[in-house]
Amino acid sequence: MIKIFLKQQKSLLRKHPWIFSGAIKSIDGKPILGESCHVYSADNKLLAIGAYSPKSQIAIRVWTFEDREINKDFFSQRINAAWALRKSIGIDKVSNSFRLINAENDYLPGVVIDKYDDYLVCQFLSAGAEYQKLKILEALLDLNLTENIFERSDTDSRLKEGLKKVKGCLRGNPPPNFVSISENNILLRADIVNGHKTGYYLDQRDNREIIKKYSKGNRVLNCFSYTGGFGIAAASAGASEVINLDSSESALQIAKSSATLNKIPESIFVCQKADVFEKLRFLREKGESFDLIVLDPPKFAESAFQVKKAAKGYKDINRLAFHLLNQGGFLFTFSCSGHIKQDLFEKIVADAALDAGSSAKIISYLNQASDHPVALNFPEGKYLKGLICYKQ
Ligand code: SAH
Repeated sequence: MIKIFLKQQKSLLRKHPWIFSGAIKSIDGKPILGESCHVYSADNKLLAIGAYSPKSQIAIRVWTFEDREINKDFFSQRINAAWALRKSIGIDKVSNSFRLINAENDYLPGVVIDKYDDYLVCQFLSAGAEYQKLKILEALLDLNLTENIFERSDTDSRLKEGLKKVKGCLRGNPPPNFVSISENNILLRADIVNGHKTGYYLDQRDNREIIKKYSKGNRVLNCFSYTGGFGIAAASAGASEVINLDSSESALQIAKSSATLNKIPESIFVCQKADVFEKLRFLREKGESFDLIVLDPPKFAESAFQVKKAAKGYKDINRLAFHLLNQGGFLFTFSCSGHIKQDLFEKIVADAALDAGSSAKIISYLNQASDHPVALNFPEGKYLKGLICYKQ
């Protein structure tokens, strides 16, 4: 195996799985894209085995800190351990759809695998993950969860790794137009071929369950609704009206058909194509008000450079939401930008309330669902944060 020597190894000793290109002293040989290499300290001690990615700033992603072969058995062990975690938290009892492998957080850098009903949807996001694809697939099939495997490696992050975007059927049957997520007594339609991420926001599952407790008899505004997940949950729990806002017409069409699937009357489930920033202003001018507002925008900060601009965006929508919220109402507000940390997010929401002249308090902290674990050696794994605020 090719040897890579480091000049800087502090994070590796804390078992962080990323080695940046600047930490490399020398490479003994010419590894190809994604090939596994032995990683040595400056004083010649074997520290890890990782996949080499010459194009990326993250030059090596560690497969293991032990001296072992990266073969099908290795992937089977990792996948079995991840599946054991999901079973022990009972996720397969709550939903037919969940995240089976959460990349670095399940010690498989760059590998995301979600189960949707009878399909597994994979993303191979790093050079190493791509290089090991066949072994990962073999190990996955051994689990006997399903024979249908679809690939959604059509993300921009692949380009940074020197990989092309790809999507298509890897094994078994091509997916239908929609798969049906059956979760906590509601049904949600997901398009695993063209939908966001691998097809759905599985990471919001626990929060969809929580919102039900706040919905009965309430008028709900679901901003950035995508295919309506929060809206369906709220309506199924007795909301008097749900207005879903999103800029994507196709997502709203799926939201409508999901509502029908759950026998939610059209009269109380409104889907409007709109720019949320403009629509919130418009609703305010019209004097509208709501008992429950959800703000679940897309990632405003893609990089650390965008934090300032993103903060402005978050503040703007939160301020408008506080204006539109009735006294005694609840705001479910989220940020999925990993670069916006918890403290900053709370400060943004606090400033927004202040500017709106609202006195509000946080009554709950929300997170990504537990099938999206955060490895303690990989704090970057935490990205989704949310607050339930009560307007007094
Ligand atoms: N809340 C959703 C996920 C939201 S993802 C769920 O739980 O499933 C973010 C959504 O915001 C996407 O559907 C995208 O189409 C939409 N979006 C992005 N910018 C927007 C804007 N300015 N106005 C309205 N919708 C927007």
